[in-house]
Amino acid sequence: MPEKLNTFDKSMALFRRAAASIPGGIPGHFSPALTVPGSFPYYAVRGQGCRYWDADGNQFIDFMCGYGPIILGYHHAKVDEAARRQREQGSVFNHPTALTVELAERLVSMVPIADWATFARNGSDVCTYLVLVARQHTQRRKILMAKGAYHGTHAWCIHGIAGLIPEDYEHVLRFTWNDLDELASLVQKNAGDVAGIILTPYHHPAFGDSVLPAPGFMQGVRELCDRHGIVFIMDDVRAGFRLDLGGSNEYFGFKPDAIAFCKALANGHVISAAVGREELKKAASQVFFTGSYYNSAAEMAAALACLEELEQTRAVPHMLEMGAMLQQGLRDRAAKHGLQVTVSGPPSIPAMTFSNEKNFLRMQRFSAEAARRGVFFHPHHNWFLCAAHQENDIREALEVADRCFAIVKAEFGS
Ligand code: PMP
Repeated sequence: MPEKLNTFDKSMALFRRAAASIPGGIPGHFSPALTVPGSFPYYAVRGQGCRYWDADGNQFIDFMCGYGPIILGYHHAKVDEAARRQREQGSVFNHPTALTVELAERLVSMVPIADWATFARNGSDVCTYLVLVARQHTQRRKILMAKGAYHGTHAWCIHGIAGLIPEDYEHVLRFTWNDLDELASLVQKNAGDVAGIILTPYHHPAFGDSVLPAPGFMQGVRELCDRHGIVFIMDDVRAGFRLDLGGSNEYFGFKPDAIAFCKALANGHVISAAVGREELKKAASQVFFTGSYYNSAAEMAAALACLEELEQTRAVPHMLEMGAMLQQGLRDRAAKHGLQVTVSGPPSIPAMTFSNEKNFLRMQRFSAEAARRGVFFHPHHNWFLCAAHQENDIREALEVADRCFAIVKAEFGS
């Protein structure tokens, strides 16, 4: 019997409509621009657990989890109910609610380096905020970041140059991930003017393999910061809560001065958080940090319910176990077909590339064929596990992956 493959006609039709009324159709990282046209879902309808359904009624085992926010699974009853209950009372007021205080207290007790917490909406908000806090605290200008790192859409760090003027990023200097000597020499060259070093807990560039911190790298950054009075900011927007509930630095064994959280904080409800050490609290209160929705109570309720669920279940070890099963299964199946793949990153946030290509054509074919068979793997961005993935989902996904590897092999050779 021929395989029944997913089709994407409704997604395509919506995308054509979008192109008329939305600049870029689907802008930013949600863009399907670098996928195989007509072989990918462009619009979602609903989700449940680790699966979602698209505009054409296709069902997918999802390995992107909304690019990270979905950590417990789609439509999580406890989290959504907590948000719904608060929403019935109202969510946006002239004031915060007690939930803001409770959530700050919860983060301070959960995250070892945190003496305070404050809230916003997006990851970009809190990364930029911590950069300003570092500048205010040190009264210096320079921010050092890793080449290829992503810290959001604000002018100091956004990818590309459209709409920017050089002054926007004049005081932002980039160094090679894991290269402590290059970092130390940048600090030396800018002696007395480095406010902060911002790093993700491990390197997870788009279009590349994930790279863990080399032994001693983060400890070296810590020492440099201590020696020169520099604020060490960790951007845990992407990895946060998938490796350790106390911050991904705990998983890797280092201590930053401040952490930006966002994605997985409320299982898809719209909230981000910045936390930091006592020494930064005065500067943190001086930087003007606010937004129309920064105190929305429904999101606070959702975050509290999400953290509670993460703490009371084996969510983190479970995601690590399921991710390890997926990673090993992919390696084994690729090897069986004589294909060269690199599976990188921590198990709960895996990444995959074909080691012998730079143009991502094999990866695009692999993920397109997976989407046609009901598994969503991204072609050039790291993936995400959630607590709802079970062994049978991983097994099913690996069976599909096996079929997709065979197609890649037939089309490209090894
Ligand atoms: N930092 C990192 C590491 C991220 O992955 C992202 C989002 N992909 C951001 C910052 C920006 O977050 P947001 O898109 O919510 O502004």
